[in-house]
Amino acid sequence: MTQQKARSPKNKSPSTPHRASQGNRDFRKRTQRDAKPSAARESTPRTIVQGAPDARPCIVLHAGREKSLQRRHPWIFSGAVARVDGVPENGDTLPVRDAAGNFLAWAAYNAASQITARVWSWREEENINAQFFRSRISAASEMRRALLPRPQAGEDEGMNNGARLIHAESDGLPGLIVDRYGDVLVMQIGSAGIERWRDTIADILQDLFLPVCIYERSDSDSRGLEGLEERNGVLRGTLPGNVEVVEHGLHFRVDVAAGQKTGFYLDQRDNRALTETLAHGKDVLNCFCYTGGFSLYALRGGAKSVLSIDASGEALRIAAQNLTNNGLDSARAEWQEADVFQALRKLRDQGRSFDFIILDPPKFAPTAAFAEKAARGYKDINLLGFKLLRPGGLLATYSCSGGISDELFQKIIAGAALDAGVDAQIIHHLHASADHPVLLSFPEGTYLKGLVLRVVS
Ligand code: SAH
Repeated sequence: MTQQKARSPKNKSPSTPHRASQGNRDFRKRTQRDAKPSAARESTPRTIVQGAPDARPCIVLHAGREKSLQRRHPWIFSGAVARVDGVPENGDTLPVRDAAGNFLAWAAYNAASQITARVWSWREEENINAQFFRSRISAASEMRRALLPRPQAGEDEGMNNGARLIHAESDGLPGLIVDRYGDVLVMQIGSAGIERWRDTIADILQDLFLPVCIYERSDSDSRGLEGLEERNGVLRGTLPGNVEVVEHGLHFRVDVAAGQKTGFYLDQRDNRALTETLAHGKDVLNCFCYTGGFSLYALRGGAKSVLSIDASGEALRIAAQNLTNNGLDSARAEWQEADVFQALRKLRDQGRSFDFIILDPPKFAPTAAFAEKAARGYKDINLLGFKLLRPGGLLATYSCSGGISDELFQKIIAGAALDAGVDAQIIHHLHASADHPVLLSFPEGTYLKGLVLRVVS
């Protein structure tokens, strides 16, 4: 298998491929923090106008509504559709035509979704068949083989065995997420088109990667928006009793059946590695720690102490196990099951302070419609974070909300620093790892953003 890698309490989150909410405020609901850039899915789809039922099935757009497709954006919203000829079923592949009848794309139809169709291909001569899926999956795998970090001299293949193999739209497979944890693959289906080809795709994955198990985690809330039932179970092979992912030599247990997302947050891999380089000699506070990712890196990097907080007792149990399994010093680690919003206030009231604070909350804003409410949540935790930092301290702060742009996130953080009465410098601008590519024509694919800041005064 190629190099790969991929956050929970029970993952009942809405969205693409990445986080589940554990908070009690609705804006804290971090759905799958990644690949479910579900921009316009809050309302029910408009009624599709039925064209000639005897004609060959085809989607015809309103005049002028072909522009987005011509810019290679892969979603066709219901408002762009003038009519649907024939009597297609959800999941069928249909040609999409402009008002004059010119071919635009092959796309998977879904009348149940606000996104009426998702594009498979822009080439009229393309056949959407098993070979098409095989070639897209191979291409995604090859890109990762070529671009993901290889073991360095003196390291073995066992240093990294996890990766996101398929990142949905941005890998030309709208609605499909596949994460690899060693020889276990976890597949998540978020579109009717992929649902139709599920068994074919499982066969191809089995053939190409020889996993001991392909596990299906098609249980994100976003499935409801697509009119799809939730599904969670083994698709091929047998699920080993203990699944783990190795990341830069650190071993993490992955609960593929009940963990958040597909069990782990592969998107933060590079950012976790950066944490290791910044932690030496510091008192670290890791908020929303899940199974201990950032905490373990900080400890390996020589942190003096690491206090880790999460609302999920189960995630913390796995985190403590992970610490022991990696032979790290548990005397320097403290785990706290709490709501971060309350815990930060308590720490402030106790007069506590830290050298390095990490804030990696769940998705507060799955779509832009939630941005204002989400902004209040981000500002709150970041303001408290700034107040808990010692002079010269570092804040690594993240947002995995598709509805919050990089620019807006930076503005929110600037507002938080201002209200906390500190000046701060941006040291790093961060995004997801290279196995989570973003198609240029599909900016909705960008969801994870982060800033590392240093408090000046
Ligand atoms: N940084 C982690 C991933 C964090 S995912 C990693 O690298 O693996 C977000 C986490 O926030 C989840 O573990 C979830 O249980 C937790 N969470 C959600 N809302 C919370 C809240 N209000 N207080 C504390 N934890 C919360």
